[in-house]
Amino acid sequence: MGTLIVGGTVVSGTQSLAADVLMEGSRISAVGARIDPTGHTVVDAKGMLVLPGGIDVHTHLDMPFGGTTSADDYEWGTRAAAIGGTTTLIDFALQTIGKRMQDAYATWRKKSEGKACIDYGLHMAVTDLGKDAAWIDDVDAMVAEGITSFKIFMAYPGVLMVDDATIFELMQRTSKLGALVCVHAENGTVIDAIVHQALAAGKTAPLYHALTRPTVAEAEAVHRVVALSELAGASVYIVHVSSEDAMCEVEAARRRGLPVMGETCTQYLVLSIEDDMGKPGFEDAKYVFTPPLREKKNQDPLWEAVREDVLQVVSTDHCPFRFADQKTLGLGDFTKIPNGGPGVENRMQLMFEHGVNQGRMTVERFVEVTAEAPARIFGMYPKKGVVAVGSDADVVVWDPEAEYTIEAATQSMHTDYSIFEGFKVKGNVRQVFSRGELIVEGGKFLGTVGRGEYVKRGLGEVL
Ligand SMILES: [Zn+2]
Repeated sequence: MGTLIVGGTVVSGTQSLAADVLMEGSRISAVGARIDPTGHTVVDAKGMLVLPGGIDVHTHLDMPFGGTTSADDYEWGTRAAAIGGTTTLIDFALQTIGKRMQDAYATWRKKSEGKACIDYGLHMAVTDLGKDAAWIDDVDAMVAEGITSFKIFMAYPGVLMVDDATIFELMQRTSKLGALVCVHAENGTVIDAIVHQALAAGKTAPLYHALTRPTVAEAEAVHRVVALSELAGASVYIVHVSSEDAMCEVEAARRRGLPVMGETCTQYLVLSIEDDMGKPGFEDAKYVFTPPLREKKNQDPLWEAVREDVLQVVSTDHCPFRFADQKTLGLGDFTKIPNGGPGVENRMQLMFEHGVNQGRMTVERFVEVTAEAPARIFGMYPKKGVVAVGSDADVVVWDPEAEYTIEAATQSMHTDYSIFEGFKVKGNVRQVFSRGELIVEGGKFLGTVGRGEYVKRGLGEVL
């Protein structure tokens, strides 16, 4: 007794194949032509694509930032992800300076407990390796808990930024263990100097958030952290690459054969300063996230980098704040605007429309950057990221012809605006199965809140 998806085209990172998919229990038990439907619930997928559930490896749910907390908690954030065709996400547990990593791990497991609607893993954002040599051993302890990736910030001095020695020491340990270091690459102290100069000159509007964080400051940090990873013999993953300058540093490192990988996010591919900022009043605060929106000329190089495997993953950096009562903390001073935007719900739609429909990538590459590569790099493959026998039955039945307009009024994310307001897409979720359970149909979440499971991740691959 299972659920049989009949007549669709099953897509992986390498091929598209007309095949039926049988899900029994929480796993996929058969993929092939004309599976006998006797005794199974049949889902007609004629004309549909059958995709591995999306994996978004960069979200910030229920995260404290700048005196407030991101607007989607684990329930709302994971529900919105599911509705958008994402069945697994990896969120960031954030170490408090002066406290151990175990403390952050426990805090984030508690935030998600009884709330997660889909499966999720955690990265550990490392802010403090302590004065005591024992603290670095927490890295080993986290790997044992299934946290096999560690994020560091080269930006936000005095808050989250760590120095080069800390990065290097962390990398020495991850290298020994086969774990991964993820990097927010921006030269934080130089950016702070530019920001202070802007404020002193009376430039306080939200647009100056973007104008005070030059692309060269991003590229410099990528270059430096690549050198540190080479010194330590570690593999490294650059999060939210937003500019051609930064992307070229990733490309140069990969040309040299270094284990350097990277992601970009949907907002950098489809939004820009020219198209989306420079609005009257305080409107631009909706687009204040870090790295900021870039000039439009960066979009084509980033798309090409995603297509050509210079960047392996597209994530969202979903970190939502409401405009009405959260973004407004920065009225009169852009440095006080909570950094982040909503996006977890729209990633699959935007990548399908702007990637596949507009001829920038094949449907196989779409699956690779939204599901398969994230699963491989972050130690979840083949449990997640592929429609194959033995894998978790995380399957999206995708209607390539369905038309949809993105609007704040109808979205599930808990923000009072959308950064993609009015964007029209063709291609949308029809059904979503998570571990064999139908959790989304007709744009509605049908599962129970809290059904999502913590994914204890293994060591990932270098792609
Ligand atoms: Zn982030």
